[in-house]
Amino acid sequence: MSRSVFVINAGSSSLKYQLVDVDSGDALASGLIERIGETTGVATHEVPGQPDIVEQRVISDHEHAFGWVLRQLDAHGPDLDAVQLLGIGHRVVQGGARFDRAVLIDDDVVQQIDDLAPLAPLHNPANLQGIRSALATFPGFPHVAVFDTAFHLTIPPAAHRYAIEGRVAAEHRIRKYGFHGTSHQYVSRRMAELLGKPLEAVNTIVLHLGNGASATAVRGGRSVETSMGMTPLAGLVMGTRSGDIDPGVIFHLHRVAGMSIDEIDTLLNKRSGLLGMTGTGDMRDVQQAADAGIERASEALDIVAHRLRGTVGAYLAHLGRTDAIAFTAGIGENSAPVRAAALAGLESLGIVLDPVRNAGRGERRISADESAIEVWVVPTAEELEIARQVAALVAPPSVE
Ligand code: ADP
Repeated sequence: MSRSVFVINAGSSSLKYQLVDVDSGDALASGLIERIGETTGVATHEVPGQPDIVEQRVISDHEHAFGWVLRQLDAHGPDLDAVQLLGIGHRVVQGGARFDRAVLIDDDVVQQIDDLAPLAPLHNPANLQGIRSALATFPGFPHVAVFDTAFHLTIPPAAHRYAIEGRVAAEHRIRKYGFHGTSHQYVSRRMAELLGKPLEAVNTIVLHLGNGASATAVRGGRSVETSMGMTPLAGLVMGTRSGDIDPGVIFHLHRVAGMSIDEIDTLLNKRSGLLGMTGTGDMRDVQQAADAGIERASEALDIVAHRLRGTVGAYLAHLGRTDAIAFTAGIGENSAPVRAAALAGLESLGIVLDPVRNAGRGERRISADESAIEVWVVPTAEELEIARQVAALVAPPSVE
């Protein structure tokens, strides 16, 4: 008999969900409700082996969205009793310095997620909306918060502190938190399995390259450095975010270019990165444009690769001995050219790609046999990781 967890990722106007079989790792159902609160809502429910349900309808709020999901589960399955629903897992973006692991949600946890809203104003309030609506929709089940930041709380002070006045940093909780933690945790653990070594013995650099992108140095299963910072704006070049930039640019844009703080926020978070440099934030389009000879697209790819290479070099230095580099997420899993460009010229550091393996598909080693450091593609599985953390908390394996 299967055991399942319902995994929820709530945004301000969207709700993404997946019912995960925690033993097989299969998605038993999944869906996405977009444009909640608008007149043009779209709701999709997918059950493997059945035609997708797609409805255009007004969905006024998150509770209404959950009502729709329950009706789809009733009508199209799977039956929640039959799949033994263990609990509900909620992705929460910012867990601050408080949450270093997944926790059962109670009033105190809700309050603390709310208290962290100033650090993640776009995400935590939306995550909370999802939690409150789900508590009303699925009463009687344990609800668990799984934080994007939790995995990174092991990063030592020398790496997580910024070199600013300590009083200001403490008062405003300014430090590196890091994000994509569930993905980095899943991939680094999977990497140890693939190498056939205990997690404690493996040092990995994980490159999570999706619309948002971050790199993490993982020593023996613990995050010791990551590229995102207090917010997800720092580090690598992303779909619409600039990644690292001299903070002085912000003062310049304000004082000399006359932009307001909100305009600069929008510029760096929503109109920069691939989009700002090329006009599209989608890596496939950027690659096509570069192949077609459009110079700004190839320049953008050079900037992406340069930033990645520098990050890999820094993390090799932080880790000392490095066993593996793992690429994951949309670009990391699918773009052979980005992987090749990111690691080009690192042969003297023991990193040699095999072009044929790099051009393949799926979970696999892509380094050459002679590469001292193995390079892999490891598809991420954030929902599965959340589901497993929920199951471990609410239904730990019994010791008999
Ligand atoms: P998100 O961070 O939104 O979860 P994904 O992990 O799905 O994003 O990654 C989206 C990115 O992956 C997009 O830039 C997309 O163009 C890119 N991508 C997907 N497939 C390919 C591919 N075959 N080649 C290059 N880039 C790809």
